[in-house]
Amino acid sequence: MLNLVLFGPPGAGKGTQSEKLLEKYGLIHLSTGDILRGEMKAETELGLKAKSLIEAGNLVPDEVVIGMIDNKISENLNAKGFIFDGFPRTQAQAEALDKVLEEKGTGVSVMLSLEVAEEELVNRLLERGKYSGRADDANEETIKNRISVYNKETSVLVDYYSAQSKHVGIYGVGTIDEIFEKLSNAIDSIQVG
Ligand code: ADP
Repeated sequence: MLNLVLFGPPGAGKGTQSEKLLEKYGLIHLSTGDILRGEMKAETELGLKAKSLIEAGNLVPDEVVIGMIDNKISENLNAKGFIFDGFPRTQAQAEALDKVLEEKGTGVSVMLSLEVAEEELVNRLLERGKYSGRADDANEETIKNRISVYNKETSVLVDYYSAQSKHVGIYGVGTIDEIFEKLSNAIDSIQVG
């Protein structure tokens, strides 16, 4: 299986690039943010519980997202592989993902980390907030909180995957196609070994 962790702070372009990558490589897209927004929209119990955390820019509990991902992987065992977008976001999530994939006889192939400066992230998210309808894109305070949660809890995962020699940093400023090409090159180079 080809299992990609597409990593980076909020606004780095993970969702945009995931769409292109899943088409090119025939992978299944697992975005915990998308799944959670679907639960919120359907007003499920989980969605209602997660709403206030998400709208304030905080993380939902590890066990919630780990359970979601575990289910989705189990439902798609015949897939060529997965793109994990917005997951893992904590060390506990990364460890759980390794465990789940190992149980299925596979593992993370590479972590592709999109690197974008903070000021650019805030501008992109404020811009997206004008049409996304996402409460967590709507004001600068929430956006800054999301970036600070990323810096405190999520960015350490670069070390986690570096220790497994799986981290590849990609400069995430440029055209969508330029960044896509860099991501594709990184994936193709690990595939040939
Ligand atoms: P972005 O990367 O643009 O911040 P996402 O769509 O990935 O957006 O996530 C939106 C929100 O959903 C996060 O701020 C968080 O509240 C929640 N969320 C998504 N993925 C996770 C996760 N893996 N762990 C905890 N919370 C998550």
